[in-house]
Amino acid sequence: MPMFEKVLIANRGEIALRIQRACRELGIRTVVVHSEADTEAKYVKLADESVCIGPPASRDSYLNVPAIISAAEVTDSEAIHPGYGFLSENADFAERVESSGFIFIGPRPESIRLMGDKVSAKDAMRKAGIPVVPGSEGALPDDPKEIVRIARSVGYPVIIKASGGGGGRGMRVVHTEAALLAAVAMTRSEAGTAFGNPAVYLERYLENPRHIEIQVMCDEHRNAVYLGERDCSMQRRHQKIIEEGPAPGIARRLIERIGARCVEACKKIRYRGAGTFEFLFEDNEFFFIEMNTRVQVEHPVTELITGVDIVQQQILVAAGEKLKLRQRDVVIRGHAIECRINAEHPYRFTPSPGRITAWHPPGGPGIRVDSHAYTNYFVPPHYDSMIAKVLAYGDTREQALKRMRIALSEMAVDGIMTNLPLHRELLTDAHFVAGGTSIHYLETKLEQRRGTQDAA
Ligand code: ADP
Repeated sequence: MPMFEKVLIANRGEIALRIQRACRELGIRTVVVHSEADTEAKYVKLADESVCIGPPASRDSYLNVPAIISAAEVTDSEAIHPGYGFLSENADFAERVESSGFIFIGPRPESIRLMGDKVSAKDAMRKAGIPVVPGSEGALPDDPKEIVRIARSVGYPVIIKASGGGGGRGMRVVHTEAALLAAVAMTRSEAGTAFGNPAVYLERYLENPRHIEIQVMCDEHRNAVYLGERDCSMQRRHQKIIEEGPAPGIARRLIERIGARCVEACKKIRYRGAGTFEFLFEDNEFFFIEMNTRVQVEHPVTELITGVDIVQQQILVAAGEKLKLRQRDVVIRGHAIECRINAEHPYRFTPSPGRITAWHPPGGPGIRVDSHAYTNYFVPPHYDSMIAKVLAYGDTREQALKRMRIALSEMAVDGIMTNLPLHRELLTDAHFVAGGTSIHYLETKLEQRRGTQDAA
């Protein structure tokens, strides 16, 4: 199959710009679709063509499938890159793209569907030899006695999770049997409303895990590699805010073992494209929680330490090309850290959209900034609050940390609030600097902080 001449980017913000850059380097023309709220954005003007697909609200624009398909038709695009979020993990959309005669830059719709349902994903992964969190086999039955029995055999605390959940929603931790059935009922009813699927399952709630994920890249010709790991344990409300790679303090042989299993699993399910296996990691053991069937926000961490352009690889394998990369060619070098800069109050986390009156991004050795923002850019209130990703690369973690501190001290954003103060604080936090904090670290720290403020 020949390389694409024109790709449509069905996303916005920094990832739309990132995909545009990848296309340009490959000599591919780009079409950016955008809502009325993003008409003035510079990356829209930078694209070869742009098409307005609707009003600001996502459901009328970035989630508007017919409008996106017809934009692809009128512009003679050959393929559609969905980015992350929005329609990127929507199997029906991927199917519509293909049945309309375009190529979906991502996995086959069957893979998206398999992984989009957490019960079927966990089941498939267990069968493919991936270690999973101990829990119910499949969805919970209706019989309350049976639910109580399952929870007992798994052991408290447990977490009830919606099969159709995502984005950190549809989960509830249960510490005692007395609270179990009410929690199941509540999660079921919320899941029915939010995801149109009331099925829930149960698994052991790990008390102090880290979030470690493995990046994979696969082609249609049964070639697959893993591109090392990322540690994304610094989270608030299940939203990542700092990511790094390699994961501090984890033995390489453990990573190599789990990485090889991920590659085997990909081959077994005939996975195509980029993907991420997310694990909780506790007591030197990995427990699969989900697979993301798309490019991730934190993909540049891996790009910096492997030298592989993940977005370009996505496009190449979607065009049917064979992966040139072999596992032995994947060499992890140095260390990379990413800070997600959000337009929000640094400690209260309320969104802070509005006009950026001055934008001073950092620079210098080892610094990469992925952002669509600039002075006078208006951050619309309708979408995710992330406005930039600042990355620091170094030969060692210490060097990457130093460079990140300098970068954060140089960076200034006026006119709106950002979480830069929180990042500056975290980059000098003794526990983070030591490495290996758990997924609960940030929330505990924030609670303590609130406690001291209330006392003052
Ligand atoms: P989502 O698709 O909504 O992101 P995940 O299954 O990836 O849901 O879980 C999101 C987060 O919830 C994890 O990163 C972790 O912080 C927490 N979590 C999920 N399952 C467990 C578990 N069994 N034990 C402890 N924490 C969990």
